[in-house]
Amino acid sequence: MKTTHNFNAGPCVLPKEAVQAGIEALKDFNNSGMSVIEISHRSKDWEAVMNECRALWKELLHIPDNYEVLFLGGGASLQFCMVPMNLLEKKAAYLDTGVWAKKALKEAKAFGEVVNVASSAESNYNFVPKKYTIPADADYFHITTNNTIYGTEIHTDLDSPVLLVADMSSDIMSRPVDVSKYGLIYGGAQKNVGPAGVTFVIIRKDILGKVSRHLPSMLDYRIHIEGESMYNTPPVFSIFIMTRTLKWLKNLGGLKAIQKINREKADLLYSEIDRNSLFRGTAAKEDRSLMNICFVMAEGHESLEAEFLDFAKSRGMVGIKGHRSVGGFRASVYNACPKESVQALVDCMREFEKNHK
Ligand SMILES: *Cc1c(COP(=O)(O)O)cnc(C)c1O
Repeated sequence: MKTTHNFNAGPCVLPKEAVQAGIEALKDFNNSGMSVIEISHRSKDWEAVMNECRALWKELLHIPDNYEVLFLGGGASLQFCMVPMNLLEKKAAYLDTGVWAKKALKEAKAFGEVVNVASSAESNYNFVPKKYTIPADADYFHITTNNTIYGTEIHTDLDSPVLLVADMSSDIMSRPVDVSKYGLIYGGAQKNVGPAGVTFVIIRKDILGKVSRHLPSMLDYRIHIEGESMYNTPPVFSIFIMTRTLKWLKNLGGLKAIQKINREKADLLYSEIDRNSLFRGTAAKEDRSLMNICFVMAEGHESLEAEFLDFAKSRGMVGIKGHRSVGGFRASVYNACPKESVQALVDCMREFEKNHK
């Protein structure tokens, strides 16, 4: 196979072991003579995978007993409406820190009053607002912990006077999280915990059943809790790979260990961005994401952008073109992105600088 350094924003690089286990299970699952995508999702063998997956989530994140972990369909985007549908009776508060946060906010408006407590839209979301007031009568406060497109991140578990809801699509399992500070955490799997097709929801059970509207079964968390995420057919293959991804993470030492590695990788690349005269970072330093590292050509060197992209491509870099709303470059360095790939990108930037002196 070709050597590439995969910096895709999602779907993205996954642990090699997890992908390999998927290949094996596609051929023959547990010596059953059948593929993992051919067995019944009601079989004992499949039930064991579901249980293992749930157990790994609980173990890695130290999820308290009064919470459930759900594996659903529809992506994080469906949660943008499912959250308010299940939790918003009168008023909800949202922190507008990027495109995804804004989309979540927009969906909530269909279900009640929505207060946008603060926004960094005017500076193209290059920082996370910190001074704002959360209305004490809000049903919940919604945040996006990592802004995948802009490369900013909320690095701590915030204190909220009302129920805290977080979209953690792109930084879940990248650091230890105090789950007890949140009422609900959700995200698409395809950034840090698996392939697309499965959505995780961590939910404190007592927050449900408080809205007066009718909830369609498929959009009612209680139905999925009761059905243990198998009210309908779950995305079996995605869940299988997710389980193997979490197993890899556990073997690596869990969230404290991966946080250390993630810091090292991010430090390596940010140091180069700050040192290299041809590049500059776009996010406010204190809010810099450890997962999505955004940078552009430095002032006066803008015309070199396409050339650097080509150069990096010729060195095996994949997926470093920035999102169209920021431009420049974005290196997504999720859990499974090896340090060697980050080093390769750094080397590439150094060489490019040398060639232009
Ligand atoms: C990718 C992403 C989403 C969208 O996820 P889908 O599973 O494609 O719906 C939402 N929020 C954040 C923070 C993301 O990074």
